[in-house]
Amino acid sequence: MQIQHNISLQALHTLHLDVSARFFYRWQENDKLDELLAHAKNYKRTIWLGSGSNTIFLQDVDDGLVVQIATNGIEVIEEDEQVRISVSAGNNWHQFVQYTLANGWYGLENLSLIPGTVGASPVQNIGAYGVEVKDHITRVFGVNTDNGEAFVMNNNECQFSYRNSIFKQSPHLLITEVEFVLSKQFIPHIDYGDIARVAQAIAGNEKLNANHVANAIIQTRKAKLPNPDKMGNVGSFFHNPIVPADYAKELLQKYPNMPHYPQADEKVKIAAAWLIEQAGLKGKKCGNMAVHQQQALVLVNTGGAIAQDVIDLKSLIQSTVLERFGIELICEPRFIT
Ligand SMILES: Cc1cc2nc3c(=O)[nH]c(=O)nc-3n(C[C@H](O)[C@H](O)[C@H](O)COP(=O)(O)OP(=O)(O)OC[C@H]3O[C@@H](n4cnc5c(N)ncnc54)[C@H](O)[C@@H]3O)c2cc1C
Repeated sequence: MQIQHNISLQALHTLHLDVSARFFYRWQENDKLDELLAHAKNYKRTIWLGSGSNTIFLQDVDDGLVVQIATNGIEVIEEDEQVRISVSAGNNWHQFVQYTLANGWYGLENLSLIPGTVGASPVQNIGAYGVEVKDHITRVFGVNTDNGEAFVMNNNECQFSYRNSIFKQSPHLLITEVEFVLSKQFIPHIDYGDIARVAQAIAGNEKLNANHVANAIIQTRKAKLPNPDKMGNVGSFFHNPIVPADYAKELLQKYPNMPHYPQADEKVKIAAAWLIEQAGLKGKKCGNMAVHQQQALVLVNTGGAIAQDVIDLKSLIQSTVLERFGIELICEPRFIT
């Protein structure tokens, strides 16, 4: 095994904190997995990393092996009116979405430009602009790294919910491949925010197609979200809280303009960005971490941020929102300590 030593993780996670891994392995070949799992037993822990766009390393990793998952490959399993494809975990997510569109396979266009890998997509059931990846996952293949046993889970077994799944709760379940089902018939999902207008403007006189929608999403995301290559961030830092309907009603009496989205089972989702903004925290800074000026749900590394800056800003936001609205904000990224 070609284990590398003292590798900087700054470019390997999108918040870009200056931390390093004492032991590092870039896993590229699917058939090296058995050897890798056997080798990983020599360490106290193994940290499986995709593109690091939902991971925050709060300190150097001295006691474990950091494995960057970089396996590649896409296989068509079945093709008729729909297509079923199996995709290796290390494939880049956005490139995979572009590949599906180029082949005339539809369903993932609203998830364009989400950073990360295919293997991480089921972990927090990535979602954007009214679509979640769970809507297109048929099976997830992997290995339980605690006992070395392979698993195959169908969609139900993955226990998908809003930014959550069995994998988010169980870091010992390594995903090696994800199977998707996509349609050959394009059905637009454009009733979210401004997407319909932007997509129609891109389409002009042409009949609306999936590429128009994908390009509308890409354009909108570029305008709204800071590019992590230029300003470190992990996208949404907090989940949108889901509260009982009674409590949402109480809040709405005080704040009639509060954005809220009724869910199934008598619950209401509230926009975390609105809570943070209303709490007067937009632009707030702790050291070199700041609440982004345009998008209050995104915390950015303005340059040279350290772990304490992240912890201070996160804690300030959580305590202020709790005090003001009685709502506890839960962090979305995984913290490695
Ligand atoms: C600018 C920006 C915008 C974003 N927008 C969105 C958005 O619109 N919607 C959304 O849902 N998310 C969004 N995110 C979050 C992020 O892109 C997703 O969570 C993405 O799926 C993370 O992929 P990754 O490969 O970078 O994961 P990592 O950060 O590398 O890993 C995340 C977690 O998954 C685990 N993991 C990674 N790969 C595997 C595997 N193969 N098997 C088991 N566990 C694994 C890791 O151990 C870790 O716990 C955004 C992030 C950024 C920076």
